[in-house]
Amino acid sequence: MPRCYIGLGSNQANPVVQLQQALKALAQLPASQLVGQSSLYRSAPMGPQDQPDYVNAVACLETALTPLALLDQLQAIEQLHGRERKGERWGPRTLDLDLLLYGKQSIDLPRLTVPHYGLEQRDFVLQPLAELAPQLVLPNGRQITDLLQTCASHGLQRLDLVWQA
Ligand code: ATP
Ligand code: MG
Ligand code: MG
Repeated sequence: MPRCYIGLGSNQANPVVQLQQALKALAQLPASQLVGQSSLYRSAPMGPQDQPDYVNAVACLETALTPLALLDQLQAIEQLHGRERKGERWGPRTLDLDLLLYGKQSIDLPRLTVPHYGLEQRDFVLQPLAELAPQLVLPNGRQITDLLQTCASHGLQRLDLVWQA
């Protein structure tokens, strides 16, 4: 089964609890197995600054779901967590689940771009990804550790909290 990486983020309604519950939901997805999760991290918001800090993490899933079926499942979990899609880009949200990587596949569909387009620029994605899979190589041949070294740092903070599915 392909190994997939999912970026989790929240800055509303107790973000740590949101991510904890999301991890449990990922562990219960059909035809899938949760095989790992990074630490939790605190990050400053992208875009609009008049919103709380985010809590972020990355989870690793092995799944027989197709990429679009997995995206459907991720969006269903977001909805269960009261995600509201308003006009504002990068506005506050209870839960964001982004499909970062799906095996070694590159996917370019109207609903789904994989690897996730922001992966290489976001420290709150690269840092947990490198923690979870330090040997990871992206479909474009780049190593996760190299990307992390060249990515601008925005004061990401690892939280000393235990979380599990
Ligand atoms: P960003 O994508 O910059 O992190 P966001 O996560 O807030 O912003 P969303 O509102 O969650 O954006 O998603 C917008 C759309 O992005 C979704 O409707 C989804 O179809 C599409 N999308 C494309 N590629 C992906 C991906 N790899 N993971 C999740 N959604 C994706
Ligand atoms: Mg996102
Ligand atoms: Mg998203």
